[in-house]
Amino acid sequence: MIGIYGGTFDPVHHGHLRPALEVMEALGLDEVRFLPLRRAVHREQPIATQDQRLAMLRAALAGQPGFVIDEIELERDGPSYMVDTLRQLRGKLPGRTLCLLLGGDAFNGFMTWREPEAISSLCHLVVMQRPGHRLPEEPRLRALVQERHSPSAGALAEPDGGRIFFQPVTQLDISATDIRRRAANGQSLRFLLPDSVMRIICEQNLYTGHH
Ligand code: ATP
Repeated sequence: MIGIYGGTFDPVHHGHLRPALEVMEALGLDEVRFLPLRRAVHREQPIATQDQRLAMLRAALAGQPGFVIDEIELERDGPSYMVDTLRQLRGKLPGRTLCLLLGGDAFNGFMTWREPEAISSLCHLVVMQRPGHRLPEEPRLRALVQERHSPSAGALAEPDGGRIFFQPVTQLDISATDIRRRAANGQSLRFLLPDSVMRIICEQNLYTGHH
């Protein structure tokens, strides 16, 4: 099984990295592919350039076995719809089961994504959450969870996709928005993200003047 972790990564931080590592270990994933998006659909566009976001990701993932970057969305023109990405990945990785890693916030907005049911059939959804999650409030998402929820990780190995699994992970309340704000204010970013990423932000003066 392969983990698919899409995001802006503007910048990548420990709130992305630690939960991804825990999911990889808990589910025995062969790898986690980090997919930086090209053009955001549901949010403001990234501040750092594609090259800068890639350089930060490369620095962050260096030395972690199983963590790889996939530039599939950067290489594709137009808005980065996850459903298109997954269809492409199914062609590129035939016979592999894909697990889409989502933070709880991303999962709560999942029904606003393009073709959410199709996404959920192309892969398993692995929601990185607090232990003892509650059912989502949004009725369509609630119905999807009731239909597709998998109580055990073992059930993910069988089918190609279509299950929803809640993986408890260490909660780190870190966001890229907060990191950018701190950088703009000249505050330290230490311990929020890898030192190697912090150095790139400092050396290239990223995020200064952005609030
Ligand atoms: P921003 O603050 O700019 O919106 P972000 O820190 O939320 O960015 P993204 O790159 O937009 O990061 O997020 C990509 C994915 O990472 C989403 O699925 C999101 O839910 C998840 N994620 C981000 N931060 C965390 C965190 N602290 N813990 C768990 N998941 C996270």
